[in-house]
Amino acid sequence: MSGEECFSILEKIFLPKRKEKIEKIKGYTIKYGNIVNNKEIIDEVLVSYFKAPKSYTTENMCEINSHGGMIVLKKILNLCLENGAEMANPGEFTQRAFVNGRIDLLQAESVIDIIDAKSEKELSAGIRQLEGFLSREIKRIKQDILDLLVDIEVSIDYPEYDVEEVSREKVEKTIGRVKKELIKLEKSFDEGKLIKNGIKVAIIGKPNAGKSSLLNALLKEERAIVTDIEGTTRDTIEEFVNICGIPLKLIDTAGIRETDDKVEKIGVLKTKEIANSADLIIAIFDSSKELSNEDIEILNMIKEKKSLIILNKTDLLTKINETDKLFSNKEIIKISAIKNIGIEEIGKKIEKMFNLNEIELGNDTVITNLRHKNLINKSIKNASKTIESTKEKLPIDIISINIREIISNLNEIIGEEVSENIINEIFSKFCLGK
Ligand code: GDP
Repeated sequence: MSGEECFSILEKIFLPKRKEKIEKIKGYTIKYGNIVNNKEIIDEVLVSYFKAPKSYTTENMCEINSHGGMIVLKKILNLCLENGAEMANPGEFTQRAFVNGRIDLLQAESVIDIIDAKSEKELSAGIRQLEGFLSREIKRIKQDILDLLVDIEVSIDYPEYDVEEVSREKVEKTIGRVKKELIKLEKSFDEGKLIKNGIKVAIIGKPNAGKSSLLNALLKEERAIVTDIEGTTRDTIEEFVNICGIPLKLIDTAGIRETDDKVEKIGVLKTKEIANSADLIIAIFDSSKELSNEDIEILNMIKEKKSLIILNKTDLLTKINETDKLFSNKEIIKISAIKNIGIEEIGKKIEKMFNLNEIELGNDTVITNLRHKNLINKSIKNASKTIESTKEKLPIDIISINIREIISNLNEIIGEEVSENIINEIFSKFCLGK
């Protein structure tokens, strides 16, 4: 619970072993006792106290640690609600931390990145953002522009000094520098996207080629259903594995083949769609059988796509010739999904194809969020406009309007000039209790 009344609500439902006046209890302490409904004990708990302003939300806060389990949790939650607490909205705790000024919007957004992180690199990008690396960079750029604006104001206020020319030069120099920095940030999104969204890999192949078995081997877990009946993997299955700290989103598709079965037909269409949107296609072939028309169709489909050819079932007698010209210019890996042979090689090839080991989060700030990227893009456009206006020798007060636009874009990133709708949208993506 967070807010002014949280302690008074707590006092109605918490019976500490050793009674103490709430004013006497220091922040960052934990008390032992029972949650009670009148006299009935609901659970034995530990309660942590946080006193304003030293808490997550900067408000008075307390956290009840019960034994867990749905019934107990529900009972305690209901008791809180019955005694005056209100259910928090998704992300409301973090939203309060933002509204109360403890963190900026960038930091608040990083909380969701940390919670949702699917790989270590994504997590460290989130942590860096929570620590304020990106905020500081944006604020530094903003300060640079604000200093420039002060100079310009002077020239507008005291036109007799004829400093306009000097101001123009300064504008070109400063905004030129700012633009370069912003472009660097924008470019970092390519890497950021890879860190955050990972590489979308579609596993395609005709029924029984071993798609599910390969997926399982890659996951080292039996998640997909492996069967002997053709075409049973009807829907697509998505899983994540990590290579070099980058998430690989693996999509197992239904077999590509012409079919009369309606359900399966949808699957086939979806396969083609997924294959088209994937960053990488893993095309798997049953090497114990000769290449069929379906196989050839698949090979034609991936001709122009970034793809890896997997010859599966190498534990059996091989009927496919890997030097076949149908495979030309493609990377080929021979595996046995069932016997777990050659699986590691796949990871190594993908690592090389995407230069994954070169992605280092060193000291450079990387943006991972599309909202930030779009705003940075807007600010770059406004920087270009400013420089153009300067070159065209437009009046300095017009130029200063362009400059203010850049500041307003940057403010929107850190949340200083952002509409309530956008804020609500950002926090609605959080889970409850965060
Ligand atoms: P999918 O339809 O492409 O998803 O294929 P599955 O992964 O379901 O595999 C089809 C059949 O091939 C199953 O009976 C698997 O046990 C078998 N299979 C898969 N990989 C191998 C392999 O490397 N060697 C052998 N001998 N059989 C395999």
